[in-house]
Amino acid sequence: MTQRVDLHVHTTASDGTASPSEAVFLAAQRGLRAIALTDHDSCAGLAEAQSAAAQCGIELVPGIEVSVDYEGYGVHILGYFIDPTAPAVQQLLDWVLDERLRRNRVIAAAMRADGIPVSAEALHARQPDAVIGRPHFAAALVELGLAESVKDAFDRYLSIGQKYFRKREYIPLREGLDIIRSAGGKPVIAHPFQYRMDEERLLALTRTLCDAGAVGMECIYSGYTPEQVAYLRSLAACFDLCVTGGSDFHGNRKPQIELGEPPVPYELLEVLKAR
Ligand code: AMP
Ligand code: FE
Ligand code: FE
Ligand code: ZN
Repeated sequence: MTQRVDLHVHTTASDGTASPSEAVFLAAQRGLRAIALTDHDSCAGLAEAQSAAAQCGIELVPGIEVSVDYEGYGVHILGYFIDPTAPAVQQLLDWVLDERLRRNRVIAAAMRADGIPVSAEALHARQPDAVIGRPHFAAALVELGLAESVKDAFDRYLSIGQKYFRKREYIPLREGLDIIRSAGGKPVIAHPFQYRMDEERLLALTRTLCDAGAVGMECIYSGYTPEQVAYLRSLAACFDLCVTGGSDFHGNRKPQIELGEPPVPYELLEVLKAR
């Protein structure tokens, strides 16, 4: 059987519920040959994951997931093999954390105005090493009995258009890709169908990202149909992007997603490495 990888995994360093070592051990249990950690706006889980991976003999690909602004869309870029110690990366992450704290305070204030007892400071204090965002507000609403699940909390309160949605600023696309590349990272466009763009806009986005130095496209992704995967593979081929894939595992915060699903062959990681 071909060896498998999962190139899109979140941990407690951002909004996942498995710690970096738990994610790695789970991947080993599932028989994966490699996983990439791609926490939102954080490389804080990489060191722990590296040593866990060494212990259980699987390969750990360092990564990150950064949101960039494209015409008002928050487009997610995976940065594989990024050097987390690069000053430009540190600066970017500091800026993103400040902006998240600002936005989180606005969300919390809106909730408190409706009598919901949450504070951004409390969420940050509870998980001081995590990148706090809407998923943590969603978990708080579930704990308070105001939502049935994280998904329900997003659907009724936190998704764009809902009562407690508040925008945060994203770094401009070109700047974001420049920073990733300057730190040795390989930029890959994440889950292209999540932005709900029409075909023309998705093509324009892909062209813009290629001009900015993207090397790959995440074509294999949780929930994408075979037709969608085939479409993305042809899009990637048109733009000379390599094909990557991953689950976007978030532990039990997204219980429908399983680590290592859908299957992604190891060969795709080798092609990515060669870019
Ligand atoms: P933030 O960056 O704080 O605005 O939060 C965005 C994150 O929330 C995304 O990266 C997803 O992990 C999560 N998210 C967005 N929409 C949903 C949803 N409908 N259900 C569950 N999680 C979601
Ligand atoms: Fe997430
Ligand atoms: Fe994402
Ligand atoms: Zn993700």
